[in-house]
This record gives sequence, structure tokens and C-alpha cells, in this order.
Amino acid sequence: MQYDVIIIGSGPGGYVAAIRCAQLGLNTAIIEKYNTFGGTCLNVGCIPSKALLDSSEHYHNAAHNFAVHGIGLKDLKVDMKQMIARKDDVVKQNTSGIEFLFKKNKITSFIGVGSFIDKNTVKVSKADGKEETISGKNVIIATGSKPVHLPFLPIDKKRIITSTEALNLKEVPKHLIVIGGGVIGLELGSVYARLGSKVSVVEFASSIIPTMDAGLGKELQRVLKKTLGFEFYLSHKVTGAETKGKKVVVYADSPKGEKVILEGDYSIVSVGRVAYTDNLGLDKIGISLEERGRKIPVNERLETSVAGVYAIGDVIKGAMLAHKAEDEGVLVAEQIAGQKPHINYNLIPGVVYTWPEVASVGQTEEQLKESGKKYKTGSFPFKASGRAKASGDTDGFIKVLADADTDEVLGVHMIGPRAADMIAEAVIAMEYRASAEDIARTCHAHPTFTEALKEAAMAATANRAIHM
Ligand SMILES: Cc1cc2nc3c(=O)[nH]c(=O)nc-3n(C[C@H](O)[C@H](O)[C@H](O)COP(=O)(O)OP(=O)(O)OC[C@H]3O[C@@H](n4cnc5c(N)ncnc54)[C@H](O)[C@@H]3O)c2cc1C
Repeated sequence: MQYDVIIIGSGPGGYVAAIRCAQLGLNTAIIEKYNTFGGTCLNVGCIPSKALLDSSEHYHNAAHNFAVHGIGLKDLKVDMKQMIARKDDVVKQNTSGIEFLFKKNKITSFIGVGSFIDKNTVKVSKADGKEETISGKNVIIATGSKPVHLPFLPIDKKRIITSTEALNLKEVPKHLIVIGGGVIGLELGSVYARLGSKVSVVEFASSIIPTMDAGLGKELQRVLKKTLGFEFYLSHKVTGAETKGKKVVVYADSPKGEKVILEGDYSIVSVGRVAYTDNLGLDKIGISLEERGRKIPVNERLETSVAGVYAIGDVIKGAMLAHKAEDEGVLVAEQIAGQKPHINYNLIPGVVYTWPEVASVGQTEEQLKESGKKYKTGSFPFKASGRAKASGDTDGFIKVLADADTDEVLGVHMIGPRAADMIAEAVIAMEYRASAEDIARTCHAHPTFTEALKEAAMAATANRAIHM
């Protein structure tokens, strides 16, 4: 069987590429090594983590925030088994949704490990030992990523765990030690802190979420300490960890060189992810990996050094985010069909689903300073928002960065209620190259959290925020 396109990997990059290819009339096959489609994102990433974040948020609110609303509860408890079962059901709804979409779009799917025989021929090795060979005019590699394993942090998947095991714990840890203060560690740390765990975060950098605008990390750290009792060990270098029965011991060096020993019952190692290309047979077609990050090198069309072989998502350069992978899937599909799409990589939003949520798009203040660009800022705190007061979510702020001469919005950084959804407004505005004044003069419904963006834009335009 000769396909127009073969896609290896069914995560958000691969499955979206497959659907778009099929929509464009291309005869499409997709290969997935696991029994369910959807990749990291649907099975062990975005979706299950958000399901648990939602469940734990309900519990935390019921335990700590209902009383002030005049709602009393007796005998509140966590049923971990039910919480995990619900999460599994949410995952199933999503993964079976992809199966339905493959059928609807007449995409041929194969379960097995895909590996190159040559640039147009891919072998599918199935779990029962059988093999099948298929050929395609184009191949898209969308094999994603896996957690980074550090040699001095032996992951036993029982007590010293990755995010995958953290999504399936049978009990609420008493003391959870999170190694790595990035997005995944803070989200999973939040889940268990809300359910009652003491959470300690050990981070090598001097701030949490270090790649985002520095103001966001500072505020998030303050709020996580205040509302969930998080403990932070910043600028600490973890040197080892070991399991002792039901305990975990984590060793670190403080910035002053002192030895720090933390004892808990679980430790999540969330120090990043690395591109996954095992068993793909890249050597058979002459593709070598970048030294750093082991990523597949691609050009601006996302084509590898081999014509007709493309790569998208976590396995190539750029942010390891589901929506980036999805947009790249669409881009490659449309290119193969002869269209001329493009992606504005400066406008890929980043989100942290803690509470308050953190969201960001465009350039950070640190990047603007470093580039020497003249810019102005406008900030608005949620404590001045009527909507935030009504819901009791007054932590955080929105910051708008605009070009000092043209007023074009260069970056929007927010920490606050529903920031994950609100960032879309900033992305659209920036996609259309809006000025801060454009946002400031756009009518926003009252009372909404989005008014804080309008106010921050007003503050950036002419320091004319109304409500502060
Ligand atoms: C806990 C956690 C939470 C996250 N939360 C978010 C979030 O909220 N928002 C967000 O944007 N991102 C989030 N991410 C990141 C997101 O999951 C990834 O960026 C995204 O899944 C990458 O998509 P992808 O298609 O490149 O690869 P993946 O989703 O990793 O999919 C790759 C697929 O390829 C398959 N595969 C690999 N090799 C082969 C082979 N040889 N043959 C056949 N199949 C193969 C794999 O089994 C896998 O199914 C999270 C990640 C984690 C771990």
C-alpha cells in the first residue's frame, strides 16, 4: 500500500497532522506504539494532569475557601481511588475521541513501533512479534519526548518517580519532594499540596518557572507559599536521591555549599524532557541528532536533511508544548498539500495550571532589556478587579509590555484567575499586531477578569488605568 503520508507517533503533533492531511485529500497512515492514541498529552501529560488539578482544586476550595462563602461541609475527605478513576475516564474519553476522528477521516492506523527501512518505507513491529511494511511519499516523525533521567537520580517508579507515576499515586504523600521548579513539577506539586501533602521544591535556578518573565515566578512563589504552604529550595543543586523503605531521601548542595538533606515519602523528578527517537532507525536514512537535547534538526519548513521526511512537536527544537506540536502538524500537512502556511513562533503562549494560573506570550521584560529595545510597561493587580474580589481570587497581576515608540504590544504576562484562558486575547491582539491602545480601547464585558488586561493596556498606553 502506498500512502501519500505516513505519520509516526499519534500525540498532538501526529494526530493533528493526520487529520489535516486527510482533510486535504491525502491518503494517510499513522503508527502508534501504544494501544491508545493521543501521545504524552492525552495519556500521561496535559489532560490527566488537568483532570487531577481540577479535582484537587475542588477539594482545596471545599476545605479552605467555602466557609467564607457561607457554605459549611462536614466529613470532607479525599477518595484517591475515585479521583484517579475519574482522571482515567477523562483520558479514555479523549483517546477514544481520537480513534473516532481517525475513522471519520478515513485515516489508516497501525499499532506498533514504526522504524525506517528507507526514506519511503516504514516497518511496523507489533507487540505479537508480527511485522508489516508500508510505504509513503512523505513521512512525518512525531515521536515526542520522554522525561530526562539523570544518572545520579535513580528513578525506581515507586518512591522516586516521574510525572507519569505521579498521575497514578494511590495515596496522598505526607511529604512530597519535587525536584525541578518548572511547569510540570509545580502543577503536580499543586495537586498534592491541595490534597494535604507538604510539598518541597528543589530548583537549581534562582527562581521557579525560570524561562518565564521573572515577575511571574516571584509572584507564583509567594502565592504557593501563602496558600499551599510550599517550601522552596532555590539555587540548590540536587546531587542524589535514594529510597529507604517507605522513605525517600534527597541530597542537595545549597548556594553556600552546605549539604541539605530532605526526607519525604515520594519524590517527583521533573527536570525536563528529552526528544524521543529510540528504535526509529534514523541512521538508516542518514539523519543525525543535534548534540544538545538529542533533537531532530529541521529547516524552516520542518523538513529534515532527507527530502520528504519531516519532523514536528517535542522531537524538534522549540517549546515542548502540545499546541506548538499541533500547529506544526497543520503546517507540514498543508505544505505537503502545496499550501504556504506559517507559524509565528514568537506568539506561542506558555501556561502553568497552578492556582493562580500563569500565562505568557511574546517577549519577557528580561529579553527586551537584553535586546536593548525601548519599551514601556503597564500593570494591573487583580486585587483592584471587581470580578476578582467577587470570586475571592485577588492574587496576581497582568503586565503588558509595549514598544516605547510605536505602542505595539511586545509581550503580555499574567498570573491570576483563569489566566490560561485569558492569554488567548493577548495572542490574537499580538497576531494582528495590536497596539496597547487598541486593547485599551476595546470594550471588555464587566465584571470579568479580562478587564484586568484592558486596564494593564491602559496603564501601558498612557498610565491611565481607571481602577487603580
Ligand atoms: C505531566 C505533563 C503535563 C503536560 N501539560 C501540558 C500542558 O498543560 N500544555 C501543553 O501544551 N503541554 C503539556 N505537556 C507537554 C505535552 O504533553 C507535549 O508537548 C506534547 O504531548 C508533545 O506532542 P508530540 O506530538 O510532539 O509528542 P507526544 O505527545 O510525546 O507523542 C508522541 C507519540 O509517539 C509515539 N511513538 C514514539 N516513538 C514511536 C515509534 N517509533 N513508533 C510509533 N509510535 C511512536 C509515542 O508512544 C507517543 O504516543 C505536558 C507534559 C507532561 C509530561
